[in-house]
Amino acid sequence: MDDYHVIIIGGGAAGLTAGLYASRAQLKTILLESMIPSGQAYMTERIENYPGFPDGIAGRELIERFTQQATRFGLEIQQFTAVDRVEAAGEKKVVHAGEKRFSASALIIATGAQWQKLGIPGEEEFTGKGISYCATCDGAFFKDQAVAVVGGGDTALEDALYLGRLARKVYVIHRRDQLRAQKILQRKALEEPKIEFLLHTVVKEIRGEGVVKTLLLENLKDAEQKELAVSGAFIAVGQRPNTDLVRGVLALDDIGYIITDQDCATSVAGIFAAGDVRKKGLRQITTAVGDGALAAAAAERYIEVKT
Ligand code: NAP
Repeated sequence: MDDYHVIIIGGGAAGLTAGLYASRAQLKTILLESMIPSGQAYMTERIENYPGFPDGIAGRELIERFTQQATRFGLEIQQFTAVDRVEAAGEKKVVHAGEKRFSASALIIATGAQWQKLGIPGEEEFTGKGISYCATCDGAFFKDQAVAVVGGGDTALEDALYLGRLARKVYVIHRRDQLRAQKILQRKALEEPKIEFLLHTVVKEIRGEGVVKTLLLENLKDAEQKELAVSGAFIAVGQRPNTDLVRGVLALDDIGYIITDQDCATSVAGIFAAGDVRKKGLRQITTAVGDGALAAAAAERYIEVKT
């Protein structure tokens, strides 16, 4: 079994920052990830609210830079289909990934969150055939076509604005009349002539033949139903934390986010959580980076006290 000072699970902004700090502090550190580079920031076309880049930066480029910087200080990165299990009880934390086992004095969970599903008929059947959870990944397939975005948060409006540059028409379908997204995004979306808002509206079913053809919509005010012809729909209804791995091991909140203290320490000594996976007020790259630094510094202190 390979032994480390620190194991980090997850290679997004939080995990890579934790890797940079831990490696730079001369701790023998490994980061385990299923896809490299990864994370939601990596999938984001343009990031405008990460300081230091006044003209914005592509998410892909930012995360590639994070990776280069962390590996320059000696961070080891290994790719696995999945990390299967975490043993937290002993002095050393043990991580099982396929046939391999790794041990470390401290463990940092930075597994992020994944897109929430609507759970309606047709969603699974048409995923990849018109239904997508990533506008920047799949938007180009819908050039000059009519598409829908479901949701009223930052992701939904960023997706709608991105799709507005490619598609012929973008419907934003939101269940309330108040949008949750930041005001700046709301203003931009309202000014974009290709975007049309369908408020108080939910999608009941996704219909098609091989590919998406229509969405069955219901207006929540008068219960009226109608079919909307679109070639695709982007679902942007929030996130679910990737915490299956630590369920029953660490204290989680009702939704499943890891509960930590102000230094990113979890309910188990020696295990820290950073980024979107942790219960907190703002999930952005800036806060993920802060968490990564905090978690690595706390892990370093924990190891110093133990040895
Ligand atoms: P979010 O803020 O949780 O918004 C989810 C949206 O989906 C809400 O409008 C919600 O409606 C709607 N929704 C949830 N479940 C639904 C369902 N079953 N059916 C229909 N609609 C449903 O999620 P997000 O937009 O993905 O953002 C997640 C986090 O990332 C947020 O903290 C956000 O600020 C951050 N983020 C930031 C940026 C940026 O700063 N540039 C970009 C993207 C994301 P209600 O409003 O009615 O609840």
